[in-house]
Amino acid sequence: MGDMMADLAFDQLFAALASKQLVFDTGAQRQQGLAGSDQGAQCIARIEKAARGRPCPRCGGGRVHRCGQASGLQRFRCLGCRRSYNALTGTPLARLRKREHWLAYFQCVLDSLVVRAAAAKVGVHRTTSFRWRHRFIPAAARQRPSTLGVIVEADETYLHESQKGSRDMTRPARRRGGVALWCGIDGEHDCLLVARDRSGRTLDFHTGRGPVTAAQLDTCLGKVFAPDAILFSDGGAAYRRFAAQHAIAHTWVDVGAGEHARGNINIRNVHGWHARFKGWLVHFRGVASKYLAHYSGWWRVLDDHRLDTPTVLLVAAAQRD
Ligand SMILES: [Zn+2]
Repeated sequence: MGDMMADLAFDQLFAALASKQLVFDTGAQRQQGLAGSDQGAQCIARIEKAARGRPCPRCGGGRVHRCGQASGLQRFRCLGCRRSYNALTGTPLARLRKREHWLAYFQCVLDSLVVRAAAAKVGVHRTTSFRWRHRFIPAAARQRPSTLGVIVEADETYLHESQKGSRDMTRPARRRGGVALWCGIDGEHDCLLVARDRSGRTLDFHTGRGPVTAAQLDTCLGKVFAPDAILFSDGGAAYRRFAAQHAIAHTWVDVGAGEHARGNINIRNVHGWHARFKGWLVHFRGVASKYLAHYSGWWRVLDDHRLDTPTVLLVAAAQRD
């Protein structure tokens, strides 16, 4: 039930985001660039509009009244717990500054700009650019399905240092000591598990180093299968064990023996996603292991094409957990 509700919320959010009333970016505005003195106010207006009617973030109470403004945001006081809050309270964007640059920064996210290029384009310091990237992207990437469709393809892909390239870093000297954290030992690869249904709904998980285990499949995918769903994978033992444990119908192609498809039974959708992700990743001069999930989430958002304007991305990122 909880999953169904979360899924419903996901679809409702996309419907809301896609509706014209929320989408205000026009081609002309994009061409003019998003910089402008009223960008912060526009940003807040969009967030407040999307947050309208939300209950108190602290107690869930619905009886609130307005009590002035602070930092350009309407403050509300909850009559239940008597505490005050605004549209950003409880969201990943709470307490971040320079709102006038947020929409421009989200455009940089849509344009896959690296940290330095985004900093230059928006006019913020590299450290701000770095901080925003790793706050905004995971925040927006939380918008993902909680369940998948009838046919679910799942497979993992591995990324090693040559694919991840060197680091995309803002503070080389300070981070040098952390090399072992993300480089690992020779031969160690980071595993990215991807499950994708035939309608394109996609889930991605960084499961750490080494091959994916049945326990990890359980953690990542244990609740995303509909009762009538079918899992397509390769012949890996972890998938067989996972499917058996959950009584999920399971068919596999023997990729190890050179079999790529038996008619409809294939994992080409998920392999296509892997290939597009890795192709896109090359463009970055470095991806630290600890941020791999941020990049895969970023790619998922871009590849999905639904959160495709700065405004919808902003509103998605400004949802409460
Ligand atoms: Zn309250």
